[in-house]
Amino acid sequence: MADTEVLVIGGGIAGASAAWRLAELGSSVTLLERGDIASESSGVNAGGIGALGWGHVPNLQSYLTMGSLQIFKHLQLELGYDIEFRASGALQAIQTAEQYEYARDNVLSLKSQGYTLELLTVNEARGLEPELNPDLVGVVHIPLRAQADPVKATRAFAAAAEQSGAQVLTGREVTAITCQANGGFRVACSSASSGEVHTAKQLVLAAGAWCGTLGEMLGLRIPIIPVRGQMWASEPLPPRVFHSLSAAESPLHWTASPGNDEGNDASTPPELTHLGSRRVTRHLYGRQTRDGELVFGGDRQVVGYDKTVEDAGIEVNFGHVRELLPMLGQLSITRTWAGLMPFSLDGKPVIGKIPQMENLYIVSGLASSGFGRGPMAGKLIADYIHTGHRPQVLAESDPARCVSVLD
Ligand SMILES: Cc1cc2nc3c(=O)[nH]c(=O)nc-3n(C[C@H](O)[C@H](O)[C@H](O)COP(=O)(O)OP(=O)(O)OC[C@H]3O[C@@H](n4cnc5c(N)ncnc54)[C@H](O)[C@@H]3O)c2cc1C
Repeated sequence: MADTEVLVIGGGIAGASAAWRLAELGSSVTLLERGDIASESSGVNAGGIGALGWGHVPNLQSYLTMGSLQIFKHLQLELGYDIEFRASGALQAIQTAEQYEYARDNVLSLKSQGYTLELLTVNEARGLEPELNPDLVGVVHIPLRAQADPVKATRAFAAAAEQSGAQVLTGREVTAITCQANGGFRVACSSASSGEVHTAKQLVLAAGAWCGTLGEMLGLRIPIIPVRGQMWASEPLPPRVFHSLSAAESPLHWTASPGNDEGNDASTPPELTHLGSRRVTRHLYGRQTRDGELVFGGDRQVVGYDKTVEDAGIEVNFGHVRELLPMLGQLSITRTWAGLMPFSLDGKPVIGKIPQMENLYIVSGLASSGFGRGPMAGKLIADYIHTGHRPQVLAESDPARCVSVLD
């Protein structure tokens, strides 16, 4: 039986960041991961780091994005972990007059709130990104956005945690959790050799799309829904795409049809590309990696825990990217993959103390942008545990709004 002050379940970017910060603050902390570090969503994402600035009135989104950006930079530039961090900026392609109106109004509104972005003509944008299609209607430039390698970055967080004194145990699948009379937890896990039991005063659920399963072990309903995202890569090329790229089609659709219309229901998260098996919009994100591959994806579909790639969706995404980058006509797809993103039902993060039990915390619901927000999410939950006081900004992500006791 191994004792620790804090147990973190999940070795994705959120759990690894929380363990690092807790260890830095002097807690004894153990992280349990069933596979390898970065074996799920945190290792298979596009590596896009979203940031728009702090804004005049910083909110949770500003803290998560700008705080994470600073942590990524710190890892690469000061601590010397090569995570392939690059302050590349991002470009969002506008393809129709309707998208242009939406993007123009959105840019004006966000700028008035103090965020950093601008609307460019296609010629201005092609000065920054020469391969862009000259037939685009316009382009939004978001200069603070960045990129990094997802596996290298997530493993760097775990390595930094170990360096600061955390115990990081991989190949440990948590199979049962029981509450103890002293308010602590007893956590059983299977490992390659045998079973193990860990006890801890405080427990952090950082298991991404699997937080619901851990909740069930505790008699709790934690409504985190797995949403499949899928991607493809091209063969490596010399450097030809310099920014992270996206497109305005899906943001316009999600703004025009928010929430539960179009047959969506309250058990489905917002901002998906599919309702059931029906496509409602095309989403797009991607970049060129340091190895030279173009890596792109976009679909977000609820299919349970199935990580099988749907080829038809990959073809749609490839076609969409080719509309932005005509040079893709000469390239082919070399590999595809999929991962499961942790979505909450209102689309907002779930970060904080679970009110039904003493000493139980969660950092999840980071959805489609958890690589870029996970570092600060982990830091905030660690600060909460260490000080015993909720950082004010976490009021927006309070688990009390959605976690309940199972019948
Ligand atoms: C295709 C794709 C593209 C994406 N692109 C981007 C992007 O460009 N930018 C961006 O910001 N975000 C992106 N995301 C989203 C981002 O990857 C996720 O939001 C983020 O990685 C979630 O991190 P996490 O630590 O919460 O979860 P995860 O990375 O899923 O980590 C959870 C960990 O918990 C472990 N675990 C689960 N159950 C147990 C158990 N019982 N015992 C022990 N361990 C357990 C899992 O093995 C896993 O390693 C993308 C996601 C996908 C799938």
